[in-house]
Amino acid sequence: MPSTQKIAIVGAGLGGAAAATLLQQAGFDVDIYEQAPEFSRLGAGIHMGPNIMKIFRRMGIEKQLDLMGSHPDFWFSRDGQTGDYLSRIPLKDYGASYITVHRGDLHALQMSTIKPGTVHFNKRLETLEETDTQVRLTFADGEVTYADIVIGADGINSRIREELLGAEKPLYSGWVAHRALIRGDQLAKYDLKFEDCIKWWTEDRHMMVYYTTGKRDEYYYVTGVPHPEWDFQGAFVDSSREEMFEAFQGYHPTVQALIESTQSVTKWPLRNRNPLPLWSRGRLVLLGDACHPMKPHMAQGAGMAIEDAAMLTRCLQEVGLSDYRTAFELYEANRKERASRVQAVSNANTWLRTQEDPAWVYGYDLYAQPLKSGVAA
Ligand SMILES: Cc1cc2nc3c(=O)[nH]c(=O)nc-3n(C[C@H](O)[C@H](O)[C@H](O)COP(=O)(O)OP(=O)(O)OC[C@H]3O[C@@H](n4cnc5c(N)ncnc54)[C@H](O)[C@@H]3O)c2cc1C
Repeated sequence: MPSTQKIAIVGAGLGGAAAATLLQQAGFDVDIYEQAPEFSRLGAGIHMGPNIMKIFRRMGIEKQLDLMGSHPDFWFSRDGQTGDYLSRIPLKDYGASYITVHRGDLHALQMSTIKPGTVHFNKRLETLEETDTQVRLTFADGEVTYADIVIGADGINSRIREELLGAEKPLYSGWVAHRALIRGDQLAKYDLKFEDCIKWWTEDRHMMVYYTTGKRDEYYYVTGVPHPEWDFQGAFVDSSREEMFEAFQGYHPTVQALIESTQSVTKWPLRNRNPLPLWSRGRLVLLGDACHPMKPHMAQGAGMAIEDAAMLTRCLQEVGLSDYRTAFELYEANRKERASRVQAVSNANTWLRTQEDPAWVYGYDLYAQPLKSGVAA
């Protein structure tokens, strides 16, 4: 049995990794358990808005990310068929950069900020037993460990959410996302002149396109396309250029050129859940997709996981680990409204389609917010 107060985080995705770093920097004793044997450089890009870059500033990796990522000045929306501009949203002047970056590069950088020896791979959490004084965690390989509190950062199929609320599959949204990375030289013959961060829209589908590197030598596209449900066995399946041409028939020549240049493309079912009735119970607490998974159309899902990690750290610092129940109430009181609002807008897929002010998302500085009381949570 441990003699010091210990925090266990389950899941080392973008949310869990952020929580590990921030809690360790705040002086907590933290171990993080990840089911995967290792992380590979998944073929995907990601946006990180100024609201998240302010947290990366606190973690000490803002400058590295500024160098690593592309810095679009605007988020453009265009009609997928005519190419007409629908909106031109400035991304500057929110107190930090807005970057687009390779997701694997971002994750690797985050992982490098966690204390050596505290990340445990190949640890698939199977069972949790909570007593008056601690939680006993048992992993698929038979290893057992103990912690004072357990943070469930274990994604949309969270084992810890199941412990709190019972087994329930996520909802299939009716849409898939295709994802592809394209080397810049593959597009050279087209002489395309399009914006650094652009979303092509028609009524029921879209394609978002941006750079994943500061050198601007790699493009990424991610779509949202209606699709019948299938028997999802994993997170994604292979798609094809043919399927993409079919899905984007009649789309602008730039979109056709992107599809022609595609070497390989994957297809991801977009799943979500309704807002959960509780975020914590006893010594267990949720963050990120374990708590509020969403369709990815605001490009803020990981952002909300990282904001959760920062707020949870702040609340534990504020009241101390011994009073974890008050800390969890404070955390939920200071996160639920914002995360649920982002979840709703993201699921609706309306974000920045027309000219609007994104300041409530990008201008937010988590560390500048006065803490709301947790009593009503
Ligand atoms: C197509 C697409 C595009 C997206 N684009 C963006 C974007 O541009 N910007 C943005 O902010 N967000 C984006 N998102 C959303 C973002 O990917 C998620 O919101 C984010 O990854 C959630 O992070 P997380 O750490 O909560 O969960 P995850 O990233 O799912 O991490 C959970 C981790 O827990 C581990 N795990 C699960 N179960 C167990 C267990 N029992 N034991 C141990 N470990 C376990 C998993 O292996 C995984 O490593 C996108 C999502 C999709 C599908």
